[in-house]
Amino acid sequence: MNYQLLAELLFPQVTDTPETLEEKYPIRNLPEGAVVTRMAPSPTGFVHLGNLVQGLTAERMAHQSGGVLFLRVEDTDAKREVPGAVEVLINTLKHYGIQFDEGATIDGDAGLYGPYRQRQRAAIYHVYAKKLVSEGMAYPCFCTEQELADMRAQQEANKETTGYYGKYAMWRDRSMEDIQAQLDAGNPWVLRFRSTGSIENQYKFDDLVKGKLTITENDVDHVLLKSDGIPTYHFAHAVDDHLMRTTHVVRGDEWLPTLPFHIQLFKALNFKLPKYVHIGPLMKMDGASKRKLSKRKDPELALTFYKAEGFPVEAVYEYVMTILNSNFEDWRRANPTAPVDDFKFSPKKLNPAGSLFDYAKLTDVSKNEIAKMDAQKVYALLVEWAQEFDPEFAEKLTAAPEYAVSILAIGRGGKKPRKDIATWKEAKPYMDFFYDEYLQAPAFDEKFSKDVIISALEKFLERFDIQDDSGVWFEKVKEITTELGFTTDMKAYKQDPDAFPGTVADISTMIRQAVTGKTNSPDLYTVMQILGYDRTVQRIQNVIMSLK
Ligand code: GLU
Repeated sequence: MNYQLLAELLFPQVTDTPETLEEKYPIRNLPEGAVVTRMAPSPTGFVHLGNLVQGLTAERMAHQSGGVLFLRVEDTDAKREVPGAVEVLINTLKHYGIQFDEGATIDGDAGLYGPYRQRQRAAIYHVYAKKLVSEGMAYPCFCTEQELADMRAQQEANKETTGYYGKYAMWRDRSMEDIQAQLDAGNPWVLRFRSTGSIENQYKFDDLVKGKLTITENDVDHVLLKSDGIPTYHFAHAVDDHLMRTTHVVRGDEWLPTLPFHIQLFKALNFKLPKYVHIGPLMKMDGASKRKLSKRKDPELALTFYKAEGFPVEAVYEYVMTILNSNFEDWRRANPTAPVDDFKFSPKKLNPAGSLFDYAKLTDVSKNEIAKMDAQKVYALLVEWAQEFDPEFAEKLTAAPEYAVSILAIGRGGKKPRKDIATWKEAKPYMDFFYDEYLQAPAFDEKFSKDVIISALEKFLERFDIQDDSGVWFEKVKEITTELGFTTDMKAYKQDPDAFPGTVADISTMIRQAVTGKTNSPDLYTVMQILGYDRTVQRIQNVIMSLK
């Protein structure tokens, strides 16, 4: 067979050569040890936590080493593509602060190693396809769907491994006449790799996460180009990661089964093999057992979920670090205020079996992160969230920024800042009573008569002075307590609860409910200071009226 002739026949339009491409995309001029890596997601419209885990791993490896991180859009599977998905992808990654040095952006490609969208690279793949054909390492296959289905059925009936290999590779050694006849008839074809591997052969391979792997050679003649001339993932991976000068491939471990083929392909193309970082799946506890997070069952897999709930990006980032590197939490304890990027990330610390995702833990981390922020920052992030997810609340917040900031400043700073909220969504129920429109009527504990409640509130109003400091203010609450026969002695109350109608805590709650509509609120003294004398009094008077 004259392979050269076949190559010309299949790819007459290709005039570029691998050499010209090598020149066009030169080896990057980077310091020794610099990692060049990428995120290469497919635009399916669904960006998930796994993408972020991969993205942060890649980002840390690149930037910690003085290397390069780029974004490549793997849009070869047109069937799976959803309109607008590329924008969703780029915007979501941007929201999570993944800094790409080059690649696909909203405004097109940025960087010298593009195009960074695979469908725009068809001509490049064809250069290498032609080369492989001309060297006898790839060939056209004209099998119909039906033929492939029949082959599979036969393999299954024989209890053989299914696939296009060995004696089943029906177009592997067909004559030029056969090929020409099919082409003349205008029949569609795919380009297949001519595998010389044998499943009898095994060798060792090092993965940066999985450690030493035993690889069994691939003997399947996998598809390189589909009938529309668009490459499969495998072929695009080899060509793109070579020409973009990727040193490390960070990807999900669902690609491990095809790794033997990838290794083979790099060799056939005479490309230097990159290092591989295969990341295990994200798991969660389901009852007593672990399972993979699933798109269908777990809304928390989608990154949009965290945005809509209002988890600050810092919190998600910080949490993902805790699941990626087991020593991150110790480091954080020792360096509570250090920027997260100071942490020395290592892919070797990733759990090869996958990471366990724990929503409750994320919530804790998020509470801590929010507690560390100053009120101005909380305000800015809350407004940004509310503008998208609760515009009415956003309007209230922005109508009086200083007022909102003073509310958000409650309990902030100091050695033990309060950890009231984990998400921006939780901010509204936490602080809404400061806005008259959101104030709810209190539901007092039925064990207290209306008269007692009215007395407590009236007595408070008689004494209330906005100039009081919190000590004096609380002394007054205690006075009211004693006057009403309630006790300030919690110990005595515990010992003999029937001896008193209630305690100072009950009196405080009555006042709290009158002012905030709730049994729980931030520090009541401070709440009154922020509301001011008139509004506090007005609220208490309104409640008294409603009880009469
Ligand atoms: N498009 C592939 C995916 O989304 C990329 C895998 C890789 O990073 O090479 O799984």
